[in-house]
Amino acid sequence: MSEELAKKITERVAQRMEREKMPFVVNVSNRHFHCTKETFEKLFGAGALPTNIRDLIQPGQYACRETVTLKGTKGEIKKVRLIAPFRSYDQIELSRTDCHTLGIDAPVRDSGNVKGSAPITLIGPAGEVKLPEGAIVQMRHIHFHPREAEKYGVKNMEYVKIRIGTPPRDGVYTVLCRVREDMKLECHLDTDEANALNVKNGDTSIIL
Ligand SMILES: [Zn+2]
Repeated sequence: MSEELAKKITERVAQRMEREKMPFVVNVSNRHFHCTKETFEKLFGAGALPTNIRDLIQPGQYACRETVTLKGTKGEIKKVRLIAPFRSYDQIELSRTDCHTLGIDAPVRDSGNVKGSAPITLIGPAGEVKLPEGAIVQMRHIHFHPREAEKYGVKNMEYVKIRIGTPPRDGVYTVLCRVREDMKLECHLDTDEANALNVKNGDTSIIL
């Protein structure tokens, strides 16, 4: 074995041992939506504002009292919650099971990457909005503050493997690392991904 290869293997093993000592929290994202101020007013009325009912772990993000009904070609899903503040785009995050219920073929995307995603209809108390795009299945991901990313040795938009779940129903998922000043260490799975490995809110996981 070359000295160079031996060094690489040692570094990788050391990294895995370090990461094993740094479990992080996993939370399960149920279906929800983000929207622009314009879309919000069409759904809830001119001058209406979102009502914060719960701050989320990600700084500045909050779950709102406001919900809509989602409509696809095959069915509807009621009481789908808004996550605010407003964004510059509309984004509806669904599980694959939700897509089957609605009759929507949403692509797997990272947040904000909605161009050419699936069309969907939102129905609010004040009106209906037919979006030509915006429905996605969110790519499972870990949020990091830049300081945390450095500690774990990961870069923004890098894919890593995590071990998660309770043996024997555990498994390995590939997840996207999202690094930003306004983010905080937390892994997000959707309900299908969590159910497949028996994961509950607040469980922990490690990067391999
Ligand atoms: Zn997230």
